[in-house]
Amino acid sequence: MDGGHQCVFLGAQRAITGINVGDFAIDLELDRAAVTRASIDSHLLTLWRTLTHATGRVNKRDVGFLRMRFDSRQKVEPGQTEIETIDGRRVPVKLIVNPRARHVSVRIDPARREAIATAPSKRHLKHAAQFATERAGWIAQELSRLPRGVSLAPGSFVPLRGIEHELVYKHGRKPAFIEEDLLPRLVVPAPDVALFESRVLRFLKDQARTDLIDRVATHAIALGVRPERIQVKELRSRWGSCSVDGVLSFSWRLILAPPFVLDYLAAHEVAHLREMNHSRRFWALVNKCMPDYETGRDWLHENGSKLHAIGMAR
Ligand SMILES: [Zn+2]
Repeated sequence: MDGGHQCVFLGAQRAITGINVGDFAIDLELDRAAVTRASIDSHLLTLWRTLTHATGRVNKRDVGFLRMRFDSRQKVEPGQTEIETIDGRRVPVKLIVNPRARHVSVRIDPARREAIATAPSKRHLKHAAQFATERAGWIAQELSRLPRGVSLAPGSFVPLRGIEHELVYKHGRKPAFIEEDLLPRLVVPAPDVALFESRVLRFLKDQARTDLIDRVATHAIALGVRPERIQVKELRSRWGSCSVDGVLSFSWRLILAPPFVLDYLAAHEVAHLREMNHSRRFWALVNKCMPDYETGRDWLHENGSKLHAIGMAR
């Protein structure tokens, strides 16, 4: 190749890369093949070679044709996918559409231990996927920084109302109980060790429900409201919610946190029975229930991901 051709080569490659890299990434991702910057580049190079070999040069029309071909391929749908880092690690990414989003973005969801790539519309999903691919290294690093998962197995240590308890298995059918000691233990009988985890979970949910009913009642009286119902369940993306018909839902994991944290969430959701927003008026109501509510809010901000790591054996 002489100098002149070299220029054409670079120019053409840039043109194709610039237009098609995103589409390529999507194609590869749909095939569940490795998607790396290098693999995309090598594909483009092969493509360019084939093209120049066939035509002797690359012109605008060819590039347009390529673009058309890739665009006509299967569109990216919202859902779970995987991307690959330069060093070959596979990273889970969830692709979602959020019409309120203004740009494509990537964030880490510590509760689900995955990255979420958001696009403002379905049309932008492939750009969101590409955006995530370019940040695969960052995503892998952030995920590896998350607290290690704690399984609800005999011998594990799990906080209960903010205090570490050792989980102890006992053969039997009696209800679980707490042994207060220098090292508190949560003794959970089960007819079989295979049922241990579900029994632990049941106990923790029951405890959470008891405490929440108590705290919600207190705050409801303070604000002169009446919740329709209280639900305690697995909530992955938030700690609590309040439905328009007055049903308050809470994450069972609140029982793991110190009591003022659960108390804050109870006050927060009860306040939503009066103000279905996060306005100044809303926070004034929370403040009325719990003047130092910020301590609870800050605690969750700082430690929430640790609570989400509990009950996850990863
Ligand atoms: Zn809220």
